[in-house]
Amino acid sequence: MSHIEENLRAVHARIERAAQAAHRAPDSIRLLAVSKTFPADDVRAAFGAGQRAFGENYVQESVSKIEALADLRASIEWHFIGPLQSNKTRPVAEQFDWVHSVDRLKIAQRLSEQRPAALPALNVCLQVNVSGEASKSGVEPAEALGLAREIAALPKLRLRGLMSIPEPAGDLQAQREPHRVLRTLFDTLRAEGLALDTLSMGMSSDLEAAVLEGATIVRVGTAIFGKRDYAH
Ligand SMILES: *Cc1c(COP(=O)(O)O)cnc(C)c1O
Repeated sequence: MSHIEENLRAVHARIERAAQAAHRAPDSIRLLAVSKTFPADDVRAAFGAGQRAFGENYVQESVSKIEALADLRASIEWHFIGPLQSNKTRPVAEQFDWVHSVDRLKIAQRLSEQRPAALPALNVCLQVNVSGEASKSGVEPAEALGLAREIAALPKLRLRGLMSIPEPAGDLQAQREPHRVLRTLFDTLRAEGLALDTLSMGMSSDLEAAVLEGATIVRVGTAIFGKRDYAH
């Protein structure tokens, strides 16, 4: 068994244990394999082990990876999860199935305008800043409802839910807090009539905390592919 296959099994086991502890069905949580900085061959290995949804952060890197894996395109779901500048939206609108990191109306409008007519609506999540001033990305929780309403009205986008990248925290209780903030906001938006079904939260070090607080997608890189090397 390759190390990637072994790691995938271990991550699925972690998700299952956390789901049991939360009295949730394990299949209500999807694993997004975050392949940023790793070569197309590693994605292919994970695909061979049954993984189908992959997350990428950098436009240029992801476009060449998607191209290198064109033979698998119909079976892979590509999720863009990195910061998105307005002059780089086109390849994302054209190539991806999901974008988790929408935090401004201007970005959402461009993605909707640039989404090819022949493709289904682009699935998007609103990135929310749940850690106060620590992170510069993400809409403030108080502004999320207004922005969500505007995004939900765009024709070629389908607003699916909320995403966050909290500051790292040591123990399980501290890790749960920002996830609970996002979950509460998610419940509020749903109560306001937005048809959301996705809570994208939790990474390699805090996926249990996220599952306990209701995550429906966990985004895991290091625990699947290993430590990232940004040098090349
Ligand atoms: C890199 C990244 C991840 C994966 O983080 P790991 O700690 O390697 O699991 C998840 N989400 C986002 C937005 C990322 O940029």
